[in-house]
Amino acid sequence: MRLFSYLLAALLAILGFIFLTGSQGQPVRLVIGVVLLIAAGAVVYLFRSKPQVTQNTVVQKIDLSGDVNLETMKCKVCGAPLAKDSLEVKAGAIFVTCAHCGSTYQFEEEPKW
Ligand SMILES: [Zn+2]
Repeated sequence: MRLFSYLLAALLAILGFIFLTGSQGQPVRLVIGVVLLIAAGAVVYLFRSKPQVTQNTVVQKIDLSGDVNLETMKCKVCGAPLAKDSLEVKAGAIFVTCAHCGSTYQFEEEPKW
């Protein structure tokens, strides 16, 4: 998808360049060339900003669960307190790796009373 967007942007830029160089003083061709170049820039800009948004949401999720549960979190195997680095996100789920006993399991929130 990302490769496709860059190919599209390159195609638009090349077309815009052809219109500008081959305009021979015709204002309509100049306008079309400029519009195509702007469209190419817009495509690159849109697809560049998209992955950053998804990265930010993932980071926010990790920070949130870490802040909320870090103080009360204990390894469910040996009961040792868990550090923030023991949390790892794989395939959308949070996994805990205990530094004390070495066990790894999927993190589940404890029921709130
Ligand atoms: Zn443990």
